[in-house]
Amino acid sequence: MEGKTKRENNTGKGNGSSMNFIEQFILEDIRAGKNDGRVHTRFPPEPNGYLHIGHAKAICLDFGSAERFGGKCNLRFDDTNPLKEETEYVDSIKEDIHWLGFDWEDREFYASDYFGRLFDFATDLIKRGLAYVDDQSSEDIAAQKGTPTRPGKESPFRNRSPIENLDLFKRMNDGEFEEGSRVLRAKIDMASPNMHMRDPVIYRIIKRSHHRTGNKWKVYPMYDFAHGQCDYFEGITHSLCTLEFEVHRPLYDWLVDRLRTGDYRPRQIEFNRLNLTYTVMSKRKLQELVILKLVKGWDDPRMPTVSGLRRRGYTPESIRNFIKSIGYTKFEAINDVALLEHAVREDLNARVPRVFAVLNPVKLVISNYPAEKYEEMEIINNPGDENMGSRLVPFSRELYIEKDDFKEDPPAKFFRLGPGREVRLKGAYIIKCTDFRRDELTGEISEIICTYDPDTKSGGPAAGRKVKGTLHWVSAAHAIDAEVRLYDRLFNHEDPAGQKYHDFKEFLNPESLEILTGCKLEPSLAEAQPLDKFQFQRIGYFCVDEDSMPGNIIFNRTVPLKDTWGKVSKK
Ligand code: ATP
Ligand code: MG
Repeated sequence: MEGKTKRENNTGKGNGSSMNFIEQFILEDIRAGKNDGRVHTRFPPEPNGYLHIGHAKAICLDFGSAERFGGKCNLRFDDTNPLKEETEYVDSIKEDIHWLGFDWEDREFYASDYFGRLFDFATDLIKRGLAYVDDQSSEDIAAQKGTPTRPGKESPFRNRSPIENLDLFKRMNDGEFEEGSRVLRAKIDMASPNMHMRDPVIYRIIKRSHHRTGNKWKVYPMYDFAHGQCDYFEGITHSLCTLEFEVHRPLYDWLVDRLRTGDYRPRQIEFNRLNLTYTVMSKRKLQELVILKLVKGWDDPRMPTVSGLRRRGYTPESIRNFIKSIGYTKFEAINDVALLEHAVREDLNARVPRVFAVLNPVKLVISNYPAEKYEEMEIINNPGDENMGSRLVPFSRELYIEKDDFKEDPPAKFFRLGPGREVRLKGAYIIKCTDFRRDELTGEISEIICTYDPDTKSGGPAAGRKVKGTLHWVSAAHAIDAEVRLYDRLFNHEDPAGQKYHDFKEFLNPESLEILTGCKLEPSLAEAQPLDKFQFQRIGYFCVDEDSMPGNIIFNRTVPLKDTWGKVSKK
C-alpha cells in the first residue's frame, strides 16, 4: 500500500480517481515501466485557421496531462499542405496557447522540419517493396478502393520494381511531373477491412511554395504519413487526438512499426471532440464566415475562436474550468453552450468589479436635491471580495436610469419605479417618483421627477428603511458616453452544421449583434483599458473592446447576468 502511494506521488499529482480515462492510461503505462516512465505529448495544429474552443479542449489535455505527470508537451505545426497554410495562423495559434495558460518552452516544431527524414523513410519503404508510385488519377484510385464490405482492386502499377519506383519518386520530387499525375502509395492490403489500409496515398505532388521550406520540395507527405512519424522522431509517448482518428490508428501503427528500431512506439489515444450548441466548430466553416464577411474577422466576439472569446471577455480560467467540467470520453456529443456561459459567469462574478452603466438611459431629476450640490457615494467593488475595496461615484440632482426601470402604469409585481412609487438608488438614497414628462414628438418618457429622502443614505438615521426595488444610476453631469455591443448567439439553430438539407449559413441569427450608442457609464470607466472586465450591475458582464479608445469607449457584452438574455438590454 505504502509503495503504491509513493509511486503515485512520483508519477502524478493527485490521485487516480480525479483523472480522465486518458490520464489513467498514461498512469498505467508509467506503472508498467513503458518509455522509462517518460510522458511526452504534443499539440499538433494545422496552421490553416485560428484556434477554436474545440482546440482548447485538445490543448488542455495535451499540455495538462504532460504537466500532471511531470512530462513535456511539444507544439508541432502540422504544415504538410502548402496550399492552405499561412504564417498569420502560426502566430495566432502561439498567442492563443499562451493566453490559455500553457507553454511549450523551446519545443516549437514543424512537420516541415522533418520533410527530409520523411522523404528518406518513403524511399526506404520503396526499397523494401512497401511503397509504389501509382500513375493513376485520384478518381481512378478512389474507384478501386472498394467498400467496407467489398475488397478494393489492386492498381496496375502496384508491382513496379523498387528501382523503377525509386526513379519515379525522385523525378516526382524534381518537378518533372504535373500535380495529380502520380502519387506514392504504401503497399499494404487492398482487401483490408479498414479502408485506410488499402494502399493509402502517402505522398503527392504540389508545386507551390511552402511557408517554411520555400520551393525545396515538389512532393509533400499526406497527414497520415507525417503525423505518426513526427511523433516518433520527437519521442512522443502519448499521441492524443480526436475520435475520427481511431480508424487511422492501424495505419499509424503500421507506419511507425516500419520506422522504429527498438521497443519505443508512441501510443495514439482518441477522445471525443468538443461540439457546442448554436455554433460551428470547424476551421473551414469559420473561415467561410470570415471570407464572406458574415462576421468581422476570426476574432469577432461571436466566433467560437479562442481569439473571439478573448475579445468578448472570456477568461482562460473560465474556458479551462468549462473543459474540465465536460471531461473526456469516447462518445461524440454536443455540449450546451449555456454550460460554457455558466463557467464564464462563475469566474467573472468572483473577480471583476461591479460598476454602474445605463444602457438605455432616461433622465431622472431629484427636485428637492440642490442643483449645485454634488456628493461622492462610496460603492463597494465586489461584495464577495473585501480586498477589491470600494470607489467613489458622483451623485447629483440629475441622473440617468434605465428606461425599463420606469413604467407609467406598473403592474403590482413591478418593483421598480412608477408614479408614487419608491425605490432605492443603489449605494445612495431612497427616492419617490412624483411626476414624469413625455417627449411630445415621440411620446416616449423623457424625464422622471422624484424627491429623495436625505435620511436614507448609508449612515443616515433612516438608512435601514426597506423598499422593494434597487436601481443602478449614473450622474448625468459626470457620466461618460459609450458604445455597447450586445451579442446574441451567432446561429439560431442548436446544431447548424448538422442539418442534412441545409447549409449551416442559413441558420445565422440576424440579430446576433445589437449596437447601442449613447450608453451612460460612471466616470471611473473612462480609464478602462482594452480587455478590462466589469459587471455592469443588474445587467451582465462586459469587457472593453480592443478598438476602444479614450473618447470612443466600446464595450462588448460577455454574458448577461443570468441564463436568460438580459431584460434591460433588449428594447
Ligand atoms: P477543424 O476540424 O476545426 O478544421 P482540425 O482537427 O482539422 O480542426 P487541427 O489543427 O488538425 O484541426 O487540430 C489540432 C488538434 O486539435 C488535433 O489533435 C485535433 O484532434 C484537435 N481538435 C480539433 N478540433 C477539436 C475539437 N472540436 N475538440 C477537441 N479537439 C479538437
Ligand atoms: Mg486537421
